[in-house]
Amino acid sequence: MTQQQPKIVLVRGDITEQQVDAVVNAANSSLLGGGGVDGAIHRRGGPAILAECRDLRASHYGKGLPTGQAVATTAGHLPAGHVIHTVGPVWSREQDRSDLLASCYRESLRVARELGAGTVAFPAISTGIYGWPMDDGARIAVHTVRAEAGPPVAEVRFVLFDDRAYEEFAAVLAAEG
Ligand code: ADP
Repeated sequence: MTQQQPKIVLVRGDITEQQVDAVVNAANSSLLGGGGVDGAIHRRGGPAILAECRDLRASHYGKGLPTGQAVATTAGHLPAGHVIHTVGPVWSREQDRSDLLASCYRESLRVARELGAGTVAFPAISTGIYGWPMDDGARIAVHTVRAEAGPPVAEVRFVLFDDRAYEEFAAVLAAEG
């Protein structure tokens, strides 16, 4: 029997405003905050998230969260239920790191399932400070979510910060029906 496919929704907006069971953070391996999505989540979510990240560093990830892996914390003051932190790969012209980017989506969905999340919001991981081309980032994101998402996750929301990102994701969805 085929697994029930989740609904894929595109939203142009800010991931910190999403009322979902889990928002995914494009974190860095330190888990101690950074720019872009990471900065916005910690600013808006408040100190509880950072405190939990520090505990995770001390208890499980002394050398930092490896690229492609994911781990959950509280969402502090965010309207979301949890934050799932994942570390995207930095774009490289010399080396194909697509598997690591796909792993971010796959591992985040695995953590979301463990949390029992029905709705999950993703940013376009690695396409900001980490320099991944938006068209390729969108393709990997949509393909991986299509292949990996299943119950209890019923809706995956890609939250795109600007028109360009929104258009690239919409083009991938349109091309594949
Ligand atoms: P990375 O380091 O993985 O590249 P960034 O946070 O720099 O992560 O950027 C990832 C993507 O998220 C970029 O396309 C960026 O424009 C977008 N972005 C930045 N802030 C937000 C936000 N508050 N909500 C949703 N997307 C955001």
